[in-house]
Amino acid sequence: MSAAVKLEDVRVPLGEDFPEIRASVRRICANFPGAYWRDLEAREAYPAEFVKALTDAGYLAALIPEEYGGAGLPLRAAAVILEEIHASGCNAGACHAQMYIMGTLLRHGNADQKTRYLPQIARGELRLQAFGVTEPTTGTDTTKLKTRAVRESDHYVIHGQKVWTSRALHSDLMLLLARTTPLDQVKKKTEGLSVFLLDIGACRGKGMEIRPLKAMVNHNATEVFFDGARVPAENLIGEEGKGFRYILDGINAERILVSSEAIGDARWFTKTAVAYAKQRIVFERPIGQNQGIQFPIARAHAETEAADLLLRKAAALFEAGLPCGDDTNMAKMLAADASWHAGEACMQTHGGFGYAREYDVERKWRETRLFQIAPISTNLVLAYIGEHILGMPRSY
Ligand SMILES: Cc1cc2nc3c(=O)[nH]c(=O)nc-3n(C[C@H](O)[C@H](O)[C@H](O)COP(=O)(O)OP(=O)(O)OC[C@H]3O[C@@H](n4cnc5c(N)ncnc54)[C@H](O)[C@@H]3O)c2cc1C
Repeated sequence: MSAAVKLEDVRVPLGEDFPEIRASVRRICANFPGAYWRDLEAREAYPAEFVKALTDAGYLAALIPEEYGGAGLPLRAAAVILEEIHASGCNAGACHAQMYIMGTLLRHGNADQKTRYLPQIARGELRLQAFGVTEPTTGTDTTKLKTRAVRESDHYVIHGQKVWTSRALHSDLMLLLARTTPLDQVKKKTEGLSVFLLDIGACRGKGMEIRPLKAMVNHNATEVFFDGARVPAENLIGEEGKGFRYILDGINAERILVSSEAIGDARWFTKTAVAYAKQRIVFERPIGQNQGIQFPIARAHAETEAADLLLRKAAALFEAGLPCGDDTNMAKMLAADASWHAGEACMQTHGGFGYAREYDVERKWRETRLFQIAPISTNLVLAYIGEHILGMPRSY
């Protein structure tokens, strides 16, 4: 669809759209049962086999245009892939970033950068899965980030630190946001930030160090330390100083994709809770007969359906080239809440067995909690709704 589409002409698909993709993703996921994920977590290992299976099936190149060797699918198709992965009990956190990080390169990279990297990413020869934005001292206040990139002839020299950089030890490339003009020398705080495509292999040990960060979920999180790493100037994406806008351009796609994972988790929790509630007999009747067990599951199901609908609307607006920030943010919050409530209901339904690792409920419960924090926290979405949508005074 083109940007000329009118709001009233936007169509939102209902039901099981992209049925072939859904069926195929479910088949792949069936080869990666709970035991696979539990074993990985015990070893804090990367799901290399799972990522390879998705890559071989072409799913991680879903959004790369066909001219660069990808599938050229719409954003909604990628959302469906991620939803099905999570609804199957798997986790796409090891590789989902490849889908949305690549958009920055696609939209703002030059022809040379795209032909150099996109076909290799599409073939699975290069992983672009690390996204270096968050810093330890500035957190959500992104424009205050302190990592500096200083131009020295044909290179940029990087100093600073990133935190929570997922997958940096399992990725070939990192999209890095760094300040190229000091904050006190720009008119607006959003100016003077730049985006680089950093070759991790070339920089590691040469002014860049990556350390694993132990976390509540197996997300392959790291801290990245820069002390003079050199990035060729040709790896600057777009114009120097405009990087914050480029990152913002990709944020709606990222939030739509991650929210689809939350919807998938919610579906897994509901299905798992219902099955257990029907078969677990206590006081000589199935526990699901008690409304104290049944109602939280029913409520979470209704919340999931509502969040899914708003998310589908956000994806349709995105695809039509229409403003989608409001719906995307609201859908992100509602999807995160739906999955958390479904997770809580599923935990409670399982009683003590919710704590038993072999049921996978506690793993999924820990995993889905992340959506309240990342890639944007619920408070920040509420601030967006209050201030941008409803026009109340700004808090920051
Ligand atoms: C497992 C994991 C993986 C991650 N992966 C990546 C990654 O790959 N790349 C990357 O760049 N980042 C990543 N992140 C970072 C993530 O995006 C941040 O943790 C998140 O944006 C919040 O930032 P913070 O942790 O610094 O929280 P802070 O900014 O310190 O905020 C702490 C709390 O205060 C609240 N708060 C802050 N300001 C306000 C305000 N004005 N009004 C109301 N409430 C406020 C927040 O909502 C939050 O609840 C990851 C995080 C985790 C946990």
